[in-house]
Amino acid sequence: MHVDVSPSNSTRVLFLAAEADPFIKVGGLGDVAGSLPRALRASQSLLDVRLVLPFHSAINRAAFAARSLGQFSVPHPTGALTAEAFELDVNGVPVYLIAGDLIPESAPVYSSNMAMDGPKYTFFSVASLELARHLNWQPDILHANDWHTALAVYQLSRLREVDPFFAQTRSVLSVHNLPFMGAGAEVSVHNFGIPFSLDKHMPEWARGFPLPLGLLTADRIVAVSPGYAQEILTPDFGCGLQNLLSTRSAALTGILNGIDTQLWNPITDPLLTTPYQSGQWNLRGENKAALQTAYHLPVDPDIPLIICIGRMDPQKGVDLALDGLRLAAGKKWQAIILGTGIPELEADARRLATDFPARVRTELRFDSRLSHQLYAGGDILLMPSRYEPCGLAQMIAMRYGCVPLARSTGGLRDTIRDADINPDGNGFLFSESTPQALEKRLSDVLTQFAIKEKWHQLQQCGMEENFSWDQSAVQYVRLYQELMEGSL
Ligand code: ADP
Repeated sequence: MHVDVSPSNSTRVLFLAAEADPFIKVGGLGDVAGSLPRALRASQSLLDVRLVLPFHSAINRAAFAARSLGQFSVPHPTGALTAEAFELDVNGVPVYLIAGDLIPESAPVYSSNMAMDGPKYTFFSVASLELARHLNWQPDILHANDWHTALAVYQLSRLREVDPFFAQTRSVLSVHNLPFMGAGAEVSVHNFGIPFSLDKHMPEWARGFPLPLGLLTADRIVAVSPGYAQEILTPDFGCGLQNLLSTRSAALTGILNGIDTQLWNPITDPLLTTPYQSGQWNLRGENKAALQTAYHLPVDPDIPLIICIGRMDPQKGVDLALDGLRLAAGKKWQAIILGTGIPELEADARRLATDFPARVRTELRFDSRLSHQLYAGGDILLMPSRYEPCGLAQMIAMRYGCVPLARSTGGLRDTIRDADINPDGNGFLFSESTPQALEKRLSDVLTQFAIKEKWHQLQQCGMEENFSWDQSAVQYVRLYQELMEGSL
């Protein structure tokens, strides 16, 4: 058996996620799992945090030379399944990639087909626990993220009753997006011989869903912003789990996500036309001019350039943004929309560009390079999310001097101070999720854009914010410490 040791006084954290930058990134979870383990290790040298990911086919095997740690068994009622672990080190963080029959060679990270994702993530969750055993590396903390790995938390709660290897392991479950509970995965949960919950607080329909099972049994639940931690206790945001969550409210906290401030740094960003820092508004302007030129838009610093970056999903309020922009047609603005997602929303975005050929461009793809250039060249980030557990785009935008206009919800409300109310405001908020409300607020913002001195002050406030992982990492470290000090 492979034996792997940590210093005897270290706290061992097994951190599970479906995606992590730089291996594979689909959305914000990829940013978080790519940055938090490193930040945790940096903030507390005795934290031995190790990241576990599925070895997705989209992970570039040539770029990430991983060493095989051999095969191990994953229990299954019809006979053990085989998994293989690979190991490498990225930025000082040990990373394990798990391959196996149920992590198919050709599957995307997330598929709309739960017949594929259910077995894959059930397998991955169970295999992650077995990996620890294979490595003979007893975790002090199992830290899972979202539905994809929540089942590991549930399994742990059952195993530690009977299995000395896991008897002392505590669990943390971070919730990045409550509505995605793993509905449909209950088939594979059952097939793996994992019993559904009979807890009286668990709604009937949720008894076999991975996320609710994790929420029921995690020692600590973390929502990714204090605002979202409050919201999910209410019927509007609790997705039917508000009563279950209320029974767990003593275990629930909100810790704001951070951003990777090395990756997202306008002073050193190699993807920009011209790097710049706060105050160097002319240099920043060169990035805007480059975008206007590249997209055959009128090259004019006085026309506000609105950007939208994100998944094309009703959550993100893409429809509100598109309709709101239509309503604001009488005003002077340009817009570049970058995103992929639901085909209808993509079609609506394309239609806006067709209807406003002189001022709207859409890029319906995932393009990290372009996102950097948009944050650097855009004046206003439009982010009218219907709900927003944390949101990274608004934090990145602020770091680049692009002013967010967002709906007042969850992490958006926690990170944006409306400039009309606060002298040190860093953006703008609106409440009602209607295109009319968006248009009204956008009109105000466009007016304020013209007052250069005030606008620069807003940009400066945003650029001075500390959205690094340092602060959040300190809170996670404290949480781990509390868990280690408390009794099980
Ligand atoms: P979510 O996690 O809900 O998708 P976040 O705002 O938390 O939203 O994080 C989204 C992250 O993904 C940001 O880093 C954003 O820049 C990036 N992103 C989203 N869509 C795209 C895209 N089409 N191209 C490039 N980056 C994108």
